Amino acid sequence: MTRLLIDQFSCRQDNFGVILHDPLTGETASIDAPDGAVIARRLGEDGWRLTHILVTHHHPDHVEGIAALAEAWSPEIIGPTAESARIAGLTRTVSDGDTFEFAGRSVSVITTPGHTAGHICFYIPDEDLLFAGDTLFALGCGRLFEGSPADMFGSLSRLSELPDQTRVYCGHEYTQSNARFAVTVDPDNEALARRVEEIDQMRAKGLPTLPTTIGFEKRTNPFLRTGDAGIRKQLGMVEASDVDVFAELRRRKDRF
Ligand code: ZN
Ligand code: FE
Repeated sequence: MTRLLIDQFSCRQDNFGVILHDPLTGETASIDAPDGAVIARRLGEDGWRLTHILVTHHHPDHVEGIAALAEAWSPEIIGPTAESARIAGLTRTVSDGDTFEFAGRSVSVITTPGHTAGHICFYIPDEDLLFAGDTLFALGCGRLFEGSPADMFGSLSRLSELPDQTRVYCGHEYTQSNARFAVTVDPDNEALARRVEEIDQMRAKGLPTLPTTIGFEKRTNPFLRTGDAGIRKQLGMVEASDVDVFAELRRRKDRF
């Protein structure tokens, strides 16, 4: 089986678009639909025919392109059952633990409440690929618009159990500002310090800092490191629960 081709591109202010393509079957999926015109142009440049849209959550910057793409290609549009009333045009809804096929690969649905109540991530084990939407970011995580810290902590914990080599694509390029925050709560983490330097170099050249990997995030993303003694000491929360440490990190980041 040849690997799926992945076209990642920036659009809108700081969103990422991602298009997945299987050269063998021609099947092509857009992860979310941040900008219909940009996605249509990328598809056209490669001569790819859109067969699927995989929708992570209902926010406008992830769904606004659906209508135009649906009209042009009539793809299968797969999104969260729990948000089906808020996302127009879904042709199929999925929930936690569901699997479906894309280009002969099994795609697993992982429900990750926190950013929105019904947010889902798409995991393709055969390809070591995770599409994390606005749940997990490089060095950060999504804001809690519809969920509690316990919800988001649970969601991130599930993602962190995926294999270390899993490549993670996210909804936004927030890495540099996440990095500025991460070093304030995890100042002695050498892997993080090295990564921050690399990120600054990449951004200075206008390069994307994604995808990341689960293993890399576990070593450097404070929101996945609530058990770390250094972070706990820095927060003055040596004895606190993981959820409380997570909640404090999220609170500080919101004010940062
Ligand atoms: Zn969002
Ligand atoms: Fe977003």
